Amino acid sequence: MGEFIEIRNLAKIYQVGDEKVVALRKINLSIPKGQICCVLGTSGSGKSTLLNMLAGLEKPTKGRVVIGETNVSALDEKSLALFRQDHIGFVFQSYNLLPTITAWENVALPLVFRGMDKAGREKAAQKMLKRVGLADRALHKPTEMSGGQQQRVGIARAFVSRPSLVFADEPTGNLDTKTSHEVMSLMVRMAKKYRQTLVIVTHDSEVARYSDRIIHIIDGVVDRDEPNRNCLLEKEGREHAEKTEEEKTKCKGEPSV
Ligand code: ADP
Ligand code: MG
Repeated sequence: MGEFIEIRNLAKIYQVGDEKVVALRKINLSIPKGQICCVLGTSGSGKSTLLNMLAGLEKPTKGRVVIGETNVSALDEKSLALFRQDHIGFVFQSYNLLPTITAWENVALPLVFRGMDKAGREKAAQKMLKRVGLADRALHKPTEMSGGQQQRVGIARAFVSRPSLVFADEPTGNLDTKTSHEVMSLMVRMAKKYRQTLVIVTHDSEVARYSDRIIHIIDGVVDRDEPNRNCLLEKEGREHAEKTEEEKTKCKGEPSV
C-alpha cells in the first residue's frame, strides 16, 4: 500500500499575547490509503490542531503535509477550498448541520458545491440516508432528530461525494456509549467498503478500538504509534457470523452499509 498522507516535521506554535503556545512540536507520520487511523490523546494534546493542518484549515509553523501528490501546506486559500471540496469529507463533534433545511438537503450540500443538479442530488442523498438507516427521516430537520440520528446525517454528508479522505474530530463527543458504538461502527464500515482513508481524533480509548491503528499524542508529540490488532469491528463481525439464524433475522433493521 502506497503512502497517502505524509506529515513531515510538522510544528504549530500559536502566539497568544507575549506567550508562545506550542500545540504541535514535531510530528512525522505516514498514513497509507484506506487506513482507519485514530489519533488518541487528552484534551489540549494537539489533536484538533493536527487535523486542521491535515485539512489545510491552518498553516503549519514548520514542516508540511502532503496528500497524494499535493503539498497541502503550500496551497493558497482558493486551491485549498477546491482541494477540500474534491477530496475531503468532515464529521464534527457538534454535527454542524444547517438547522433550517431537511436531512436530505443537508446530506446533499457537498454536491451543490460540485454543481450537481437537484434531481441528482436528491437521489444521491436519499441513497446515503438509506445506508445510514435514516431513509424515513429524509424530510426531518436536524432539531427533529436525536443526537445519534443527527450524527448519522453528518456521516451521510461526509461520505456522499465519495471523498478519498474523511476526517472526524471527536465524532462521538456528544453521544452516549451505545450510540457512540453505533456511529463508529457505521463510519468505519462505510470507509472500509470504499477503501476511503479515515482519520478520527478522540480522547476516548473505546472509540479508538474501531481503528486499524492508534497514534497516541501527548503535548504535541507522538508518544506511541501502534497497530490495533483487536479491532472491535472485526470482533463484532466474528460475533455476528456466529449468531444463529434466528438471531440474524433480528438484525435486519440495522443500517445497510
Ligand atoms: P485537542 O484537540 O487535543 O484538545 P488542540 O489542538 O485544540 O487540542 O489544542 C492544542 C493546544 O493548542 C492547546 O494548548 C490549546 O490551548 C492551543 N491552541 C489551539 N488552538 C489555538 C489558537 N487558535 N490560539 C492559541 N492557542 C491555541
Ligand atoms: Mg480538539
